[in-house]
Amino acid sequence: MAAQGALTLDTVAYVTTQFATPGTPLPSHSWKYTNGFRVGGVKLFLDGSPQGKTARLSKPYHVPPPGTAPDYRGYPTMAQEVTDSRVHEVVGRNVQLMAHANGDAAIDSMLDAVEKSFAGRKNMPDHRTVMIHAQTVREDQLDRMRTLGVVPSYFSAHSFFWGDWHRDSVLGERAFRISPLRSTNDRQIPFTVHNETPVVPPDMIRLLWATTNRQTRSGKVLGEDKRIGIRDALAAITRSAAWQYFEEESKGTLERGKRADLVLLSENPLNMKPEDLLRLKVVGTWSRGIRVFAAR
Ligand SMILES: [Zn+2]
Repeated sequence: MAAQGALTLDTVAYVTTQFATPGTPLPSHSWKYTNGFRVGGVKLFLDGSPQGKTARLSKPYHVPPPGTAPDYRGYPTMAQEVTDSRVHEVVGRNVQLMAHANGDAAIDSMLDAVEKSFAGRKNMPDHRTVMIHAQTVREDQLDRMRTLGVVPSYFSAHSFFWGDWHRDSVLGERAFRISPLRSTNDRQIPFTVHNETPVVPPDMIRLLWATTNRQTRSGKVLGEDKRIGIRDALAAITRSAAWQYFEEESKGTLERGKRADLVLLSENPLNMKPEDLLRLKVVGTWSRGIRVFAAR
């Protein structure tokens, strides 16, 4: 599609090396887009998902799935030595890593691997390793992430789509702190929030609403004290998103000299109450200064 000039949006791909034979050269990454496409680095997957009860937790599931032992905690995708070497071959060579880790035991495994890779270095490189989803990350792990320079990208739409299931069956009490946005914001860690499409629709307005309200499908709030304000939620999908891709020089804020990637909304979200955000409409979008969408 890039070669045909068909990409109206910039697309960054992360190639998985998870199943590559050891010794296979890393995919060549690039900071520069060619016709709207670049390879940004490498993607790894450390565990499954909380809603599928396949995320690797440190403590048992609230209700273990039928046929599993009462202390069932999910499972890793790779042994720790394999994770260590996979992570090291990427971050040790200054290639950006995005690693899927949902359960707090998978998160420990990822942080251990990053820590081992940088052990003995005087100065930490500006690696911006991204923990994808990071849903059950604990407070002590957030402290570790700040020290190691690992940043989370939260699937915060979960509070709406699976919030009730997480509270009643998957995590129990732990569900109230799923995707701990406020704890991350308070530590000034530059986090982002995302939709994982086609698992959920690519609807940024709903994501903004879920991030600021944390309301479940049944209308209950999941972790009131983990919500963030509208300004911080907007920063997560603009300024911090550009930063996580090493593109803060050209994207993420409205400034002279940056790329004219713009969204025109029906109202100013900063003047709205979080509970009213679903009323927002996207009126138009511009990419590279060219209008690519207009609401009918
Ligand atoms: Zn994932």
